[in-house]
Amino acid sequence: MDDAGEPPIPSLADVRATLDDKRRELLERIARFGASDPAETSNLNFGKRIGDGTTYAVERMTGAYQARTLYETVTEIERALERLDQGSYGRCASCGEVIPAGRMAALPWAELCVPCGSRGGARGAGSA
Ligand SMILES: [Zn+2]
Repeated sequence: MDDAGEPPIPSLADVRATLDDKRRELLERIARFGASDPAETSNLNFGKRIGDGTTYAVERMTGAYQARTLYETVTEIERALERLDQGSYGRCASCGEVIPAGRMAALPWAELCVPCGSRGGARGAGSA
């Protein structure tokens, strides 16, 4: 192991395996929430179970929220796999610059470089 400087650039086959593994892992977690279909998570029916199911509904909502968040990551991973096929993997989807290897190592499905990610991200407001 040498820990000097830049992380090694993984081969595309390694990247694909990493993305596949991560995608499978997330899908398993989503399945455990019982909501593999994002349409179902947005159509939760609380009325049906009022009375006996309030706690259940809250748990279900939390699970659905987490499942939806996980599902967004799955979608990002699937887009990254598409970019692998198209040969545009590792380039910023916004400005087209090569995304630094360190960022790709931390977030293998990143589709924006750091400047574009922080500029365009509504949720990252305030941190520079
Ligand atoms: Zn960019």
